[in-house]
Amino acid sequence: MLIVRAVTDIAERGIRKGDEFRIYIVDAHHHMGKEKSHRNTPSGAYDFYASLWFEMKKLAKQKLDEDSLLFEPVRVEGPDLASRCFNSRKSWTRLNHGWLVDKTVVFPYTDDYAKSKNPKEPTFKVSNDKIAGWTTRAPHSTRLIGFARVDPTDESREKGLAVNELERSVQELGLRGLKLHPLAQLFVDSIEGVMTKDIVKRAGELGIPVIFDTRNITTVLKIKNLVDSIRNDPECGTAMSGLRVILAHCGMSPGDPRLYEVLKDPAIFAETSTLHDLDVPVLFETAFERLSQADFSWSEKILFGTDFSFLSVQAADIILFLLSRDFPGTLADAQRILGGNSLSLIQRPFSTSAGVQMSPVEYVSRDIGGTKQIDLENSLLNLFSGDKWDLSSLDLMLPPAGTWPEPVKLSDGGFNGVYLDSYVMCLRSRVLDKEIHVWVRRTVGDSVSCSLLSTKGMARIDTVENASQSFNPVLIRSLSDHSTTLKSSDDLTKKVLSLLA
Ligand SMILES: [Zn+2]
Repeated sequence: MLIVRAVTDIAERGIRKGDEFRIYIVDAHHHMGKEKSHRNTPSGAYDFYASLWFEMKKLAKQKLDEDSLLFEPVRVEGPDLASRCFNSRKSWTRLNHGWLVDKTVVFPYTDDYAKSKNPKEPTFKVSNDKIAGWTTRAPHSTRLIGFARVDPTDESREKGLAVNELERSVQELGLRGLKLHPLAQLFVDSIEGVMTKDIVKRAGELGIPVIFDTRNITTVLKIKNLVDSIRNDPECGTAMSGLRVILAHCGMSPGDPRLYEVLKDPAIFAETSTLHDLDVPVLFETAFERLSQADFSWSEKILFGTDFSFLSVQAADIILFLLSRDFPGTLADAQRILGGNSLSLIQRPFSTSAGVQMSPVEYVSRDIGGTKQIDLENSLLNLFSGDKWDLSSLDLMLPPAGTWPEPVKLSDGGFNGVYLDSYVMCLRSRVLDKEIHVWVRRTVGDSVSCSLLSTKGMARIDTVENASQSFNPVLIRSLSDHSTTLKSSDDLTKKVLSLLA
């Protein structure tokens, strides 16, 4: 998390000079694997973020001298629980750095091993396996979110080849989004065609976001046509309700009014990588101007991304602009762009087809000061070093759609919209084909509640939106039937661990 400090009083927002705020940053565009001279792994990502922070501090100093910043970046802090996970085992401790960025959306390159010699095998199969291997095990599962990549032209080799690989990636591997690259996989001319439509439609049905590489406005307009054709197809009702499309690189057209017409589509968003120097003010000023009249907040439409390792420290330009006097939004707008939007688009806690049916269990315990929660967390982290359970994901709870709050100053708790102490963990058995959700949350009256839930069936949690109306009513009902309020002498950790034994 990035800690920033107000350089001056901002009376109209109730901010005093010296007030510090915490911003949770998500990189929505990051590659891992191997393509020619490009190679990247989780430790490469963390090293990159450390150098991005170094670059940012250097640039910030210049900008402070020019008096162009409203907020000064002062330091970086790991989010407590993820950081404790990295410290829970000696060999992981050296990876506990680079916390300028808290979560990273990771997908394959056009890998050297993406094409199989076996014509029956889909492109990117090995690449997707590798992404799942990196992102769904502790400790990296606390900070990486894996997306799959497929080649739509596989469909012309064998019908269903790419669609089935997408399904396998989501349902078996637990990947949580899809990257499509029309230039690299040579389907620019068939973005509006049936092969691409079948894949994007399936992604919508699976409820995962799709990020498209876009290099120009023509590609952006083709993607808009594709979304419209899915919207207008009576057979695509389910797909449309889950469809979210992200335009990587903002079509490299931040000044083109057509980009913003496309962004008025409720299903379409844009990501910032490649934009630098003068592109950056143009993007945010034009978005503010052209999207402000719409029935959503203009800043809900833009996602921060780096495109590492193709690009590197130029991402610092974006972060610093959001902290500058020229940025037309507030800190809440900056927080949405830097992380909130990405997390909201992913939203659904990690799960695969490995779930088993079980009755939910919930324990509620008084926990003044949070020590019982810390104790429970440390025992769970300890468990992941053992041979029974691994941690596939850590998804923090988020504010309900459209209600992202203004960040609160650190001296008043520093809440920035991301609930650092309320989250869903997915635990996967190392021995059995079995996984469960552990849902921990702070509740009213200084209490903590911990629920163990099946990732399958009706009584599951399928959103991290922290609003009772977003939860499945069957979940709410069965939790209230299976909830136990612990007596002060009861040990919450013992109760939970006995269920995991
Ligand atoms: Zn890329």
